[in-house]
Amino acid sequence: MSGRLSIVGLGPGAAALQTPAAAAALSAATDLIGYGPYVERVAARADQVRHVSDNREELERARHALRLAEAGRHVAVVSGGDAGVFGMASAVFEAIEHGEAAWRLIEPEVIPGVSAMFAAAARLGAPLGADFCALSLSDNLKPWAVIERRLRAAASAGFVIALYNPLSRARPWQLGAAFELLRAELPPTTPVMFATAVSRPDERIDIAPLEHADPARADMRTIVLIGTATTRCLEGCGRMFVYSPRSAA
Ligand code: SAH
Repeated sequence: MSGRLSIVGLGPGAAALQTPAAAAALSAATDLIGYGPYVERVAARADQVRHVSDNREELERARHALRLAEAGRHVAVVSGGDAGVFGMASAVFEAIEHGEAAWRLIEPEVIPGVSAMFAAAARLGAPLGADFCALSLSDNLKPWAVIERRLRAAASAGFVIALYNPLSRARPWQLGAAFELLRAELPPTTPVMFATAVSRPDERIDIAPLEHADPARADMRTIVLIGTATTRCLEGCGRMFVYSPRSAA
């Protein structure tokens, strides 16, 4: 079998934040497969076949990629940010585990990317400088009660929290509920950072104290970072920076 399967993180949007390794894997592929907006971020090439699918079809998309690789194609499965962070990488391994025996002979290559939390943190200063965790606020794949339990545990343990998938049209109330829960665990002045479309032309970044954080500020293209009691805001150069000291209180 001469097929190949790469799982490629495209970074948060800007070409400069895509790694050379990702570019090389994309250029070596005969087939690109992924959610439409991600595939569209890769420049079209006449000799490459593009397979575009809906956002919710991750396992079926992974199986499709494996069937193509089994047939000898060089497939690049694309994800935004890092493919291993709420992206396609785990869907591919899940499909292999529960799929055809022949798929075990395909060795997936995972190419890391700059995840939204790192791109956003870099714009803000160093809010993830201390212990931190990442949570997806989407309850499509796990019950809301699990999300609440993890949020409460993370905040009370002093982790900076990166919230992916804060809301969507189908999930309008979750971020507000998360803020309510966090207000019971954290000081009202805890910095909440909204970073939307980071590294894209319409990038927007705002900082608010937890007591005034407005869930309506976020959309699907926003990552929300929640500081801890020791996270600091620092004014300089006419703007605000946020950092979390590495020393614990
Ligand atoms: N694998 C991706 C995350 C996919 S989940 C990564 O590592 O970044 C989709 C969520 O990622 C969005 O709802 C948003 O919370 C976040 N996101 C992706 N790209 C972003 C960007 N350019 N700016 C801000 N948030 C982004």
